Amino acid sequence: MPTIICKQCEAPRRFNDVQARYNHQRAVHPFCSLCDQAFYSEHGFEMHKASMHPIRYYCKSCGRNFQTSSGRDRHWDDMHAKYRCRECDRGFETTLGREAHGLAKHL
Ligand SMILES: [Zn+2]
Ligand SMILES: [Zn+2]
Ligand SMILES: [Zn+2]
Ligand SMILES: [Zn+2]
Repeated sequence: MPTIICKQCEAPRRFNDVQARYNHQRAVHPFCSLCDQAFYSEHGFEMHKASMHPIRYYCKSCGRNFQTSSGRDRHWDDMHAKYRCRECDRGFETTLGREAHGLAKHL
């Protein structure tokens, strides 16, 4: 008698081995591949992701991680915005970027 069950199923389902359950959980349930863990509901999965794997924001210029997009933006502005648009104060890493922006936005 198979004793491996899927707790995430409404009516507990039995499997012959762990691999079969694993395949089932990956296919049917919200599944965190980082922790190899299945969740009963999308909501539970969202809660798990929020506490265990908070969304990180990357600086596209140097790859540093930030918890918030505003922190990332502030960092980028401090570290990488060497040139500024005189019209709207947007920052750019290169004069080329600034020029392209000026041509696109402020003609
Ligand atoms: Zn299941
Ligand atoms: Zn996880
Ligand atoms: Zn950076
Ligand atoms: Zn501008």
